[in-house]
Amino acid sequence: PTGFDVEAVRREFPQLHREVNGRPLIWLDNAATTLKPRQVAEAVAEHYTSGSSNVHRGAHALARQATEQYEGGRAAAARLLGAPGPEQIVFVRGATEGVNLVAQSWGRANLGLGDEILVSAAEHHSNLVPWQLIAAERRARVRPIPLLPDGQLDRDAYRDLLGSRTRLVALTHAANVLGTVPPVAEMTALAHRYGARVLVDGAQAVSHFPVDVSALDADFYVFSGHKIFAPTGIGVLYGKRELLEAMPPWQGGGNMIESVRFEGNTYAPVPHRLEAGTGHIAGVAGLRAALDFLAGLDRQAAARHEEQLTAYAMSALAGVPGIRLIGTAPGKIGVLTFLLAGTDPAELARSLDLQGIAVRAGHHCAQPALRSFGVAAAVRASLALYNTVQEVDALVAAVRS
Ligand code: PMP
Repeated sequence: PTGFDVEAVRREFPQLHREVNGRPLIWLDNAATTLKPRQVAEAVAEHYTSGSSNVHRGAHALARQATEQYEGGRAAAARLLGAPGPEQIVFVRGATEGVNLVAQSWGRANLGLGDEILVSAAEHHSNLVPWQLIAAERRARVRPIPLLPDGQLDRDAYRDLLGSRTRLVALTHAANVLGTVPPVAEMTALAHRYGARVLVDGAQAVSHFPVDVSALDADFYVFSGHKIFAPTGIGVLYGKRELLEAMPPWQGGGNMIESVRFEGNTYAPVPHRLEAGTGHIAGVAGLRAALDFLAGLDRQAAARHEEQLTAYAMSALAGVPGIRLIGTAPGKIGVLTFLLAGTDPAELARSLDLQGIAVRAGHHCAQPALRSFGVAAAVRASLALYNTVQEVDALVAAVRS
């Protein structure tokens, strides 16, 4: 027993109770996006049906209310991450935009000829391509941190790669295709010895276990709302205060200025300086509802439930004849990536879909990670806190047949 009432949680997610292809939906595509609890849909609807207003402008009641709601969402995100203050939370469209913001603003100001960016080979493309783009512009170099056969990062190789040229380490907090959870605090401490900064991609981490950016000592941390039960189009960039304050504006426009003259501007303090234009106000309302929903759960118990379910699913899948599991490191999140001998991954995913089981097939936006295993495509079933043993049994039976 985990002390986690999965049935009570499932009642909050309307989409879990629909059918697909005439069968009850089994949603095992949580790494692509999570389903939303009813509170999230209600918060978004409430904004559009009675709370519509812009924020930080307008001297009327609804503008004040929308601003309070928006800044409340920022405070909730700060609490989720253990950030010292809400001004260290920058709203972005998602993890991808968060990484691009840091690469374009911090990177352009801090990277130069011959500097090195270490990127783990387990990264989603969104924590690799932005670094390749800025490295090409600044004539810096991106170097991969290789993987061990079970999907863990090779820590000896990492130590060897670190050096006086290292400016930044880009590291996943939980890998989207391997499920690996690297020792981020330890790796960050090592990077700091060389004066390098560390950006942690928490897109797959935040919904699975409690995160504390202060304990990790991460310099930057990003995540996407839609992978933590919130709407699409809203995400968070956390940064250390002194780093955010020193970062040049990324995009220009309204909200981010203090005074504008043709002779030259002064800019607003962070986080607003990095948030040009009208933000995703309804998205923040939804994010806040999702984080309130999570804060109402026993997160340790939810994490235990997911750990048990993952261990159960890994061992059940391992018993299927002809299966090859990719990413078997201890302590991994519930991302189950596999190949079945003689079966095309896309075809397998289609036949699971006919049974109402939603999984993903393909390269999962992590081509270097799969390539480390000599694979171009695979099937991925990914778990969330609302999945059950019965759903895992249905997956395993379907894969077997
Ligand atoms: N990082 C990881 C580990 C991911 O799994 C994803 C989404 N699949 C992203 C980043 C990018 O997230 P988004 O597309 O929401 O920006």
